[in-house]
Amino acid sequence: MAQNLLAQLEQAEAEAARLRRAIAQGPCREYGHDWCLHGGANAGCGPDCGCSVPVHICAKCGDCDYGDNPEGADIRATCAALHRDAAPTDTTVSPGG
Ligand SMILES: [Zn+2]
Ligand SMILES: [Zn+2]
Repeated sequence: MAQNLLAQLEQAEAEAARLRRAIAQGPCREYGHDWCLHGGANAGCGPDCGCSVPVHICAKCGDCDYGDNPEGADIRATCAALHRDAAPTDTTVSPGG
C-alpha cells in the first residue's frame, strides 16, 4: 500500500519536474516572458529628449523589450504632450494669403 503511494508520489514529482522544465525552457510566447528590470534606455522621442524608459529582460529566454512596454509608451506620450505644449503653435490664420 505505502509503496504504491510512494510510487504515485514519485510519478507526480517527476511530472511536476517535467512541467517546470517545460515552463523554463518552453516558448515564452506560450507561457509569457518573465520580465526583469534591466535598466533604462533613452526613450528616443526627439533629439532634445532626455527621457528614459525602463528596459526589461526576460529571465527565461533573455529576450529584451527595448523599452517597448506600457510604461515606456506612457513616458513617450507624456513627453510628446509636453513638447507639443512647449512648441510655438501657429494656429493663427492670416486673412488673404
Ligand atoms: Zn522570454
Ligand atoms: Zn522624451
